[in-house]
Amino acid sequence: MKKKKHIPLHIDIITVLPKLIESPFEHSIVKRAIDKKLVKVNIINLRDYASDKYKHVDDYMYGGGAGMVMMIEPIAKCIEALKKKRTYDEIIYMSPDGELFDQKMANNISLLKNFIILCGHYKGVDERVREHFITKEISIGDYVLSGGELAAAVVCDAVIRLIPGVISDETSALTDSFQDGLISPPAYTRPADFKGMKVPDILLSGNTKNIEEWRHEKSLERTEKRRPDLFKDTSPR
Ligand code: SAH
Repeated sequence: MKKKKHIPLHIDIITVLPKLIESPFEHSIVKRAIDKKLVKVNIINLRDYASDKYKHVDDYMYGGGAGMVMMIEPIAKCIEALKKKRTYDEIIYMSPDGELFDQKMANNISLLKNFIILCGHYKGVDERVREHFITKEISIGDYVLSGGELAAAVVCDAVIRLIPGVISDETSALTDSFQDGLISPPAYTRPADFKGMKVPDILLSGNTKNIEEWRHEKSLERTEKRRPDLFKDTSPR
């Protein structure tokens, strides 16, 4: 039977610090996904779209106040140039006041064909960028980072590992925490006895059915104890 071909996901990341975002794509599962051509990640230096010879991409805030704001002009130029090449499913801005990122959102984004991620810096971007170019705003948590790069890397990592074929054991990503609304059960590897610290007998029994049941029980127990809020979330995953 012919294997169904996955159309690669195309991600464009716009940043003023390309070096900061390169490394997360050069290791482990994410790198393998890129090597297997299941995803294409294109890092764009916003300064290439600056209008002046000093490559300025930020300026003082109207109305006064500390901190620089990223200007609309280079961002607009950059996004418009990208849009000439393809139609984007989403143009995402990383922002602490965006929609909170979670596994459900990662699943939804992994189904897209392509998207842009704009990384903010300084005080963030001119509000008009958000109003006229951005289709989705994502926060990775209620804290403020100095730039959107680390947040973008978090989103891309969580999304890329969900693409079919990226993780060799197909079921592996599906059994991770949150994927089925539960926390993962505990995992063990050799040795079975480390200085008296033992692996639960059932995992050594070879009885797959009992092991599955035990794992499910542990998942429920852990979710109850650590994240009871997950039981209340009834939205489809
Ligand atoms: N003045 C802004 C913060 C700017 S922080 C405010 O108070 O909302 C600089 C940039 O870092 C932001 O533009 C955003 O791209 C990124 N950033 C900071 N915290 C983030 C978070 N929790 N999630 C996603 N992006 C974040």
